[in-house]
Amino acid sequence: MISINNCPVCNATSFKPVLTCKDYTVSKEDFTIVVCQSCDFKFTNPIPANEILGSYYKSEDYISHSNTKKGMISRLYHAVRNYTLKKKIQLVSMHVSRGRILDYGCGTGMFLKVCQDNGWKSFGMEPDEGAAKIGSGMGLTVFSNKTIINPELKFDAITLWHVLEHVTDLDDTLNFFKAKLNPNGVLIIAVPNHTSFDAQYYKEFWAAYDVPRHLYHFHKETIEKLLERFDFNLVETKPMKFDSFYVSMLSEKYKTGSIKYLNAFITGLRSNIKAKTPDNYSSVIYVFKKA
Ligand SMILES: [Zn+2]
Repeated sequence: MISINNCPVCNATSFKPVLTCKDYTVSKEDFTIVVCQSCDFKFTNPIPANEILGSYYKSEDYISHSNTKKGMISRLYHAVRNYTLKKKIQLVSMHVSRGRILDYGCGTGMFLKVCQDNGWKSFGMEPDEGAAKIGSGMGLTVFSNKTIINPELKFDAITLWHVLEHVTDLDDTLNFFKAKLNPNGVLIIAVPNHTSFDAQYYKEFWAAYDVPRHLYHFHKETIEKLLERFDFNLVETKPMKFDSFYVSMLSEKYKTGSIKYLNAFITGLRSNIKAKTPDNYSSVIYVFKKA
C-alpha cells in the first residue's frame, strides 16, 4: 500500500479520515477516504501500489470494460448508455463542431464509435488490453498508453467519462491534456459527485466511492481548483441524471445485500429532485477550456 502525503489538489499535508468503505466488487477489503483539511478534497488513502492496482479491476461485476449483457443492472446500464452516448456527443459538438477527439480511458470504444459516425476523427487511450482490442476491432485508433501518442498529434476535444478518478499519475495526465489540446479545444470530464443526495444517503455504501479503483472523490470546488493549476477554466457543468438510479441500485445491494429496486428508484429520483443546480447531481460533467 502507498500512503499519499500531499493532497493531490492543493499539496497540503494535513488530512483526516472521513469514511471507511469496502471494495464490494472485487477484494472485499476496507479502504479509508480522507479529507484534506485545507481544500476539502476527499481521496482514498492509502491506495494499493501500482503493480497490484490492476488486480482490483478483475471482476465479472466490473462491467464498464465489457459489453456483456448479464443481469438486470447490466442490461439497464447498457440501454441507458446508448441514450447517453448520443447526449455526450451533442454536448461535445456544442462546444467544438468537428475535428479530432481523444477519449481518454475509452473502454471498448462505444463513445468513439458514435463520434466517428458524427464525423469526428476519433482516437482513444485504453490501458485494458481486452477492451482496447474491441475498440481496434471496430476500426478505431486506440493507444494503450498516453506516452505512445505522436507528439505532433493535437486534439480539439478530450473527454474522460468516469476516468479521471482512476488515474494514478494525475499531474502528468493533466499536463498531457494541457499540451495536447488545441487552444480553442474543450476538455470534458465526468466524475461522481459525493455532495449529491444519494451519496449523503448511502454514506459508506455509496457505490460511486468504488474504492480502491476510485482514487479521488471530487465535487465542483475541488475539481475546479485542481484544473486551475493546469490553466483550465470551468465553463459549464451538466448533470448526469441517470447515474443516481444506477448508483442507488448498486448502493442498495451493498447496503442491504439485495437490490431493493423501489428504494433505489425513489432514492435516485429524490437525488435528482433535490439537486437544484447541475453540480449537485450524482454524477456531473465538467466542461473546461484553456484559460
Ligand atoms: Zn487539499
